[in-house]
Amino acid sequence: MTDALVRSPGASAPGLRRSVTRLTVREETTMHDHRKLGRELGLFDTDPLIGAGLPYWLPDGALVRHTLEEYIRDAERRAGYRHVYSPVLGKRELYEISGHWSHYSEDMFPPMDLGGEQVLLRPSLCPHHALIYRSRSHSYRELPLRIAELGGMYRSELSGVLGGLTRVRAIQLNDAHIFCTLDQVAGEATAALEMIRRAYDALGIRPARYRLSLPGAGGKYVAAPEMWQRAAALLTDVLDRSGLAYEAAEGEAAFYGPKIDIQIADSAGREATLSTVQVDFHQPEQFDLHYIGPDGAKHRPVMVHRSIIGSIERVVAHLIELHGGAFPAWLSPTQLVVLPVSDAEMPQAAALVRRCTDLGLRAQIAGPDDGSLGARVRAARLVPYQAVIGAKEAADDQVALRLRDGRRLDALPAAEVLARIGALVDARRTDLWDTVTCS
Ligand SMILES: [Zn+2]
Repeated sequence: MTDALVRSPGASAPGLRRSVTRLTVREETTMHDHRKLGRELGLFDTDPLIGAGLPYWLPDGALVRHTLEEYIRDAERRAGYRHVYSPVLGKRELYEISGHWSHYSEDMFPPMDLGGEQVLLRPSLCPHHALIYRSRSHSYRELPLRIAELGGMYRSELSGVLGGLTRVRAIQLNDAHIFCTLDQVAGEATAALEMIRRAYDALGIRPARYRLSLPGAGGKYVAAPEMWQRAAALLTDVLDRSGLAYEAAEGEAAFYGPKIDIQIADSAGREATLSTVQVDFHQPEQFDLHYIGPDGAKHRPVMVHRSIIGSIERVVAHLIELHGGAFPAWLSPTQLVVLPVSDAEMPQAAALVRRCTDLGLRAQIAGPDDGSLGARVRAARLVPYQAVIGAKEAADDQVALRLRDGRRLDALPAAEVLARIGALVDARRTDLWDTVTCS
């Protein structure tokens, strides 16, 4: 998706040359460190007084984050998920039951003593969602029951790096748990993989590889050989049917079950897991979860854990590096910058920004006070659309549109330009324009 220009059937020879140049620029920009760029673009920052691994989000970064969160919540609602909120703290006993305390405590913050009880910052959302499921009785007719939350979790990263989003101690996770019958597991896992594919298309992300993450040697994993085999067989079957190429890796499973991990790589080739689909027989057992089957008896559900875009911190870090700050238009903090040629066109420029705002587009003016037209175009080089308004455009309610990739369009009616940008943004397209209309 990132090189739509190259694949464009209507691309002329000059267009292709431009595309090649663009790819070279992209290759250079992938060398950007998200920490440096994040600060330069005013997306996020850190402060030693808050601490290492605890970034805060600036207004433009918060806009990117809100837009991502809206995207994922919308996609989940359409896919039949119900959203919940649950607290970021829980009693130590909760994590003893879930198994985190015995298998994962080295990654957890130490307990806080509170009125004779020990309370912990949660290392994952699963135990809370298991309790939410358990709080009501469920019939087999309600399954699969999909509970989703964009929620906080915490990891005691000793090497929490100051200034970055990739090694953080406070994590906002796009998480969900599907409580279902054994027969429904494959369908749910397959549907989650399809949601991941669509999200990656919209974000321009290309997976480095799919990994079937299996347990390894050592006591990190709950001991239940038959359970591991069943879960691994289910995920293997899902991957084989999907036609996706994948590699099995031992020692990469969650402590409670195997996973399909979708790996991404940074410009240096370092891999990280972004998205995941996991099958868990362990926690339903630990929390004594059940549903009432058609036979009127209690049955144990399976828990499918899945994350479409992973943690907000990691996905934004990856997107910054991948796009060099030139986000897909739907995700850009500023989608359109309005450039009046002279002060005489300022009223029309202000009116255009208001129209954008009314349409839900994020627009700003860069007026003559901000420098020459050329300087303003360069300053806005990461903004997907630049609308130039000269005397003629102002008189005719038109704009001369420049696209971030260097293409320039003939003057078009402002209403048409905004409608077409709005349609591309609503569709979460990664291409900027219909190439046929470009000069
Ligand atoms: Zn989980």
